[in-house]
Amino acid sequence: MSESKSKKSLSPREIECWTPPSLRYVVGCSEVKEHFADMLRVDGFGPNTLITGAPRTGKTAIVRAYLRTLMCPDRNLYTLDVCGNCQSCMHFNPSSANVGVNVNLFARAEARYAPIHYVPVDCSAITTEQWEQCMALLQEVMRRNEANHREDLTVVYLDDFHYLKYRGLMGSLLHYIDELNVVWIASARLASAFSQEVLNLFAGVLSTTLATPEEFLGFVQDRCHEWGVKPHDRVSLILLAHYSKLLPSLAISFLASTAGKEDRTFDGADVENYFRDENNGDDA
Ligand SMILES: [Zn+2]
Repeated sequence: MSESKSKKSLSPREIECWTPPSLRYVVGCSEVKEHFADMLRVDGFGPNTLITGAPRTGKTAIVRAYLRTLMCPDRNLYTLDVCGNCQSCMHFNPSSANVGVNVNLFARAEARYAPIHYVPVDCSAITTEQWEQCMALLQEVMRRNEANHREDLTVVYLDDFHYLKYRGLMGSLLHYIDELNVVWIASARLASAFSQEVLNLFAGVLSTTLATPEEFLGFVQDRCHEWGVKPHDRVSLILLAHYSKLLPSLAISFLASTAGKEDRTFDGADVENYFRDENNGDDA
């Protein structure tokens, strides 16, 4: 891939915080990507969607890529790549997607587009009080839209959705989902955690899928190139793909740690040492 953008080496922190700039930067998950690409082609609108999959399989990365693309008024309508230069591209903050209730009322850069309201909700941390505040705010947004005869897009992202049940808030959601004209996107580990009544709220229920080894190798190679991290040889890359178990976030953590080294290079032994230490740390 030859991009016209100038390459600069990213810091470890920038690598840790990396958000796929568009859906095609997400590796694997082809069905989920296609679903969100279809939504982006109609300006972000679409059915309520539940994404299921094991941790680290890319649920949140895809939702962020969708939102990031959506916020860019100059996105390419065919490739769905963002422009990288507009106000939304410069200020998109992916990390806000995981901090409690965080309400961002993004106004897109150009007036010819209606604003997008994006409300990420971390269901594992939200309190009943915060939930009620959040729903009240959404009702307010709806009221304003009606008063102004507008059809703004509002997206609510319910991360770790199954926690809503443990927090006793599922009944409340059932009520608001009917009332509010919002695109609801939820992510959870398993669809079987939910009653049929809850599943019926989502016209789209999709699972993440892992990349093929070839796709994953290509992903790791592209990120090394883009971020200024240098593999010693192809075997080092293959080992990294292998030890990452085709999970992008594991490979990204390793590349962030390599970017912290003076020479920003790694070989097969570095990969093995890193993942051996990681596994020792993880053992219960
Ligand atoms: Zn842009």
